[in-house]
Amino acid sequence: MKGTVSGMKLLSVIVPCYNEEENIRDFYDELFKNTPFFVEKEIEVELIYIDDGSKDRTVEEIKKLHEEDKRVHMVSFSRNFGKEAAIYAGLQKARGDLAVLMDADLQDPPSLLPDMYAYIEQGYDSVATRRVTRKGEPVVRSFFARMFYRIMNKISKTEIVDGARDYRLMTRQVVDAILAMSEYNRFTKGIFGWVGYETKWLEYENIERKKGETKWSFWKLFAYSLEGITAFSTMPLTVAAVMGALFCIMAFILIVVIIVKTLIFGDPTSGWPSMVCIVLLVSGVQLFCLGIVGQYLSKTYMEVKKRPIYLVKEDI
Ligand code: UDP
Ligand code: MG
Repeated sequence: MKGTVSGMKLLSVIVPCYNEEENIRDFYDELFKNTPFFVEKEIEVELIYIDDGSKDRTVEEIKKLHEEDKRVHMVSFSRNFGKEAAIYAGLQKARGDLAVLMDADLQDPPSLLPDMYAYIEQGYDSVATRRVTRKGEPVVRSFFARMFYRIMNKISKTEIVDGARDYRLMTRQVVDAILAMSEYNRFTKGIFGWVGYETKWLEYENIERKKGETKWSFWKLFAYSLEGITAFSTMPLTVAAVMGALFCIMAFILIVVIIVKTLIFGDPTSGWPSMVCIVLLVSGVQLFCLGIVGQYLSKTYMEVKKRPIYLVKEDI
């Protein structure tokens, strides 16, 4: 449903932070550079920092800001639960008619908010952003990222946009839809696609992180991509089954061929090397398929345990 927003409304700005002590205040300053826009549009802002178990002075920095400005809120976790968990906590905490997710490192420019808001006024349910360039990123990483999106979109019905950032402005309706997905393995990019709603995509050039370091190593990203695949596609399971079926058919044909050959020509004991190769190949394929099943089993196991997505240490 398209609805226009009118009157005083509350915008919840959700910022997951993990060891971002240098960025907390910069982000605050940058966000409130938009104050004239907020006043003009009668938007009230609540800024929710989610401290994802930071080991530096992030919490102290947020508390200092909270003393100065009561629009600043904080939920801090008992340990590092990951950005996905932080996003979920932020959305749960948000009371706004609108909510926006942003990184603390200013890679998601708050100056884009007026543009994004304009589309909400036009009736879009959510306004998402994607970066069109991967400038400043290692070449290998870009290559694998592209591959991931290509494969992912082939094997999953849920659309996952290449270069999509988590920077997204949403109406309350969309927020509630995302909150309704309380799964433990949270692949947010997929969840956004899955819930649907009318989404406007804004594009911008990649901006490099201002201060601090990225928390994503290559292997972390790789594990994350596997998470995405298992969470939003069951295609690998089908591949395993198909591969099994093909091997059965192949074996059956070979059996017939060998029986016929032996009946006609005799000579039962040659072909030992080829036998070893076949045994290796087949057992390899079996282990590989078992591994695929194992991936899904482990995800199911974690899901069935129904562990909380995050644990709160402090909430101000
Ligand atoms: N982040 C988090 N928990 C984590 C890792 C990252 O809350 O375990 C936050 C981080 O503080 C930042 C955002 O997620 O605000 C994006 O992280 P980062 O800049 O490291 O990722 P990149 O921009 O390189 O993809
Ligand atoms: Mg970043």
